[in-house]
Amino acid sequence: MNNEVQNAMRKIPSMDSLLALSWVEGFEAQIGREAVKDIISGLLSELRQKIRECPDTAFDFDSISRAAMLAVSEKAEFSLHKVVNATGVVIHTNLGRSLLADEAMDAVLNIASNYNTLEYSTQKGTRGERNDHVEWLICRLTGAEAAIVVNNNAGAVILALKALSDDKEAVISRGELVEIGGSFRIPDIMELSGAKMVEVGTTNMTHIKDYVSAITEETAMLLKIHPSNYRITGFTSTVSRAELAELAHSRGIILMEDLGSGMLVDTSCIGLTGDPTVRECAEEGADIVTFSGDKLLGGPQAGIIIGKAEIIDKLRKHPLLRALRVDKMTLAALEATLRIYLRGDILSIPTVSMVFKSQEELRKNAQNFYRRLKAFFETTRLRSVSLKVVPTNDTVGGGTYPQSQLPGYGVSLRLPELGSSGKLAEKLRGVSTSVIAGAANDAVLFHMRTLSGEDEKDIIAAFNEILSVGGN
Ligand SMILES: *Cc1c(COP(=O)(O)O)cnc(C)c1O
Repeated sequence: MNNEVQNAMRKIPSMDSLLALSWVEGFEAQIGREAVKDIISGLLSELRQKIRECPDTAFDFDSISRAAMLAVSEKAEFSLHKVVNATGVVIHTNLGRSLLADEAMDAVLNIASNYNTLEYSTQKGTRGERNDHVEWLICRLTGAEAAIVVNNNAGAVILALKALSDDKEAVISRGELVEIGGSFRIPDIMELSGAKMVEVGTTNMTHIKDYVSAITEETAMLLKIHPSNYRITGFTSTVSRAELAELAHSRGIILMEDLGSGMLVDTSCIGLTGDPTVRECAEEGADIVTFSGDKLLGGPQAGIIIGKAEIIDKLRKHPLLRALRVDKMTLAALEATLRIYLRGDILSIPTVSMVFKSQEELRKNAQNFYRRLKAFFETTRLRSVSLKVVPTNDTVGGGTYPQSQLPGYGVSLRLPELGSSGKLAEKLRGVSTSVIAGAANDAVLFHMRTLSGEDEKDIIAAFNEILSVGGN
């Protein structure tokens, strides 16, 4: 070690001097002394490394104390926490997809904090089936003979392929070999499940004759995948579900469909057309359909599998089901959400209500929020505030209707005193209740569709926090 390095090393504060700082005690109470020590010690090793690489690295006691406090406080805060979604993307996978309805929340709280009938029949006084709590409801709402629920739709697809393909072939159109995001790629999923993938047709054109000539003794199923977040347009041809079902049944094999979002209600009244409801898929002949619980359905994360009783029974008996089973909180939330559908009270499901909101309603909300923001900024010393009520293009998200925009309204804000729109969006993310907003045309844009009244308060609180930190 040369002198310069040695000198710098000697200036590194001792662990004890850092642990003696007044802010340490509070954090010790939260995460424990050992954790605080480990975090600081990690920071000091990083500094030593930096000094070895670059002996004139600048530091002093204060800068290290500040860095230590930041690192420790980061670990003392909840990592998974609430944010405000001002993006206008209703089913935002990165922001947690669907918000649960109040009744679903109540059910979760009640079931999670009490013993319950998860696998118990109070009539017989013996073991019950956890799936029974929701099967009847799902069947009522979709017209299916039977249903089971697993951890998520990816799990549902894997379980169904594994149990039903029996290591034989599944025939799929090349136009449906999609990647859904979060590393869910159809060819990989099929390989994982042991089903042999037989591709037919081309990216844009698949005909019934392609399927016909691919079916052999080794074929277990025809597989139809919802293209989710992507569409092939122009010179295209796909085979209808009814035709596929007829072909499959005439050859004694099954038609399985991964529907992705899985709607229970018709959305054509708000201009979202082209996707069938789960019931329609079953009616048109799909023997088994898989879909998510937390996309357009608006419930908890889950994978729902509906279909013919004898097919679902095969899944029920498969050992993989044990590894994919849902927990009591999920079942509680799902049962409550499905009961809301059964009552026909769908607008009390937040996801459905946000998707169905009319542009006129959103315009009124935007005007109200505009007035609130304007009144707030008048109380500050900021002089460059430029607010506008503007029409927006919102989206359903979650891989549903990638091409359909939901016409909405929002409030745009330019505030050059606080920096560019990108800088402002960053500041809004950095406050205690982060606000995730879009930035367009050098303005930050708050889409009303995904904002509640509570969220509007949080946005104003965010500006208060930004201004107090910034000293304005
Ligand atoms: C979203 C989606 C999945 C994955 O569902 P998860 O519930 O996220 O596991 C699978 N297939 C399709 C077509 C989808 O849209």
